[in-house]
Amino acid sequence: MNYEDHIEAAINRLHEEGRYRTFIDIERERGNFPYAAWRSPNGDLDKITVWCGNDYLGMGQNNLVLEAMHEALDEAGAGSGGTRNISGTTVYHKELERELANLHSKESALLFTSAYIANDATLSTLAKLLPNLIIYSDELNHASMIEGIRRNGGEKRVFKHNDMKDLRRLLQEDNCSSPKLIAFESIYSMDGDFAPIKEICDLAEEFSAMTYIDEVHAVGMYGATGAGVAQQAGLMGRIDIINGTLAKAYGVMGGYIAASAKVCDAIRSYAPGFIFTTSLAPALAAGALASVQYLREHHEVREKHQLNAKILKMRLKSLGLPIIDHGSHIVPVIVGDPVHTKKLSDLLLVNHKIYVQPINFPTVPRGTERLRFTPSPVHGAQEIDYLVRVMDELWSHCALNRTELTA
Ligand SMILES: *Cc1c(COP(=O)(O)O)cnc(C)c1O
Repeated sequence: MNYEDHIEAAINRLHEEGRYRTFIDIERERGNFPYAAWRSPNGDLDKITVWCGNDYLGMGQNNLVLEAMHEALDEAGAGSGGTRNISGTTVYHKELERELANLHSKESALLFTSAYIANDATLSTLAKLLPNLIIYSDELNHASMIEGIRRNGGEKRVFKHNDMKDLRRLLQEDNCSSPKLIAFESIYSMDGDFAPIKEICDLAEEFSAMTYIDEVHAVGMYGATGAGVAQQAGLMGRIDIINGTLAKAYGVMGGYIAASAKVCDAIRSYAPGFIFTTSLAPALAAGALASVQYLREHHEVREKHQLNAKILKMRLKSLGLPIIDHGSHIVPVIVGDPVHTKKLSDLLLVNHKIYVQPINFPTVPRGTERLRFTPSPVHGAQEIDYLVRVMDELWSHCALNRTELTA
């Protein structure tokens, strides 16, 4: 058996399907977001503007966050030195968990090394805790939820995206005495649309189901203290398990769930993805804590973020560019085929030093290939101006369709 040949064949399949991923080599520069240095294939370093990052609020460069990380590094050293169970639980982890529980008005919170692991570990473990559990999962849920649900070996039902009729139909078809859980996201990151959280909670109540929400694209950015869309809608108390990340709007790294003390205790005790892995480095926990605390107090950052997203959408729309607008902070411009999407992205980067990654199938459905812009509070008027001007020019250059302008 020639292993390398088989591996190569797998890689070649990706090339043939046009799905082979290339990573852009970026060097971030302290205090200078959204600017960064791009090392191009010929080795040159170019100054670019990042327009597709998930450091949604620029917190990855916030001075208080950096100071907290430096302090923790000086105090505690590099790594945590163990799993949570064996010598890896520090005051930094405990404090951050207390803060996150408090942020979401839950009894407890549990840290993981990422929100991917938090989703996977929690959802794959719940079926062990609740025999015969049926999980109802939105069809557009993130890969980490799908993977956790798939691995738990329990029953699952996939409901049409945000479709409450379909969810009700599936709930009705099952035995009313079976334990149930509805798993969904508050904001879906590719279209930037919101879940009908209240309607889902109503159905959960009617059918005695638990609720599990992924607020990864919302924590730090929505609600009075940044606890997410459920907080903004006054529905946090109706959600049983809230999942969030410390790596996107909070700008650091790590993930968590917030839930009742019993749920957290059980996941802590049963989930291999929590137990058998080294805990977050103390400096990461310290930075995340500083970031969560900062964003609790600084609502004006959220307001600026939303304002910039609104301005960018309005301006692209006024040029007739087909954007999706659900009123969130994500600005998807639909190009509609993979070739033009890649070409636009290349031209933006090489000729105009604007970095936005092309988003293709299977991340989004075929025919909806897109550029997904993530304006932040630190993208200034000048950057927005320049981006809009260049997009207008390239749209014409590629002879792409514009939507009918309505007065
Ligand atoms: C990015 C993402 C995650 C994973 O978060 P990490 O902390 O980066 O692992 C989970 N859910 C959704 C919806 C995401 O977009």
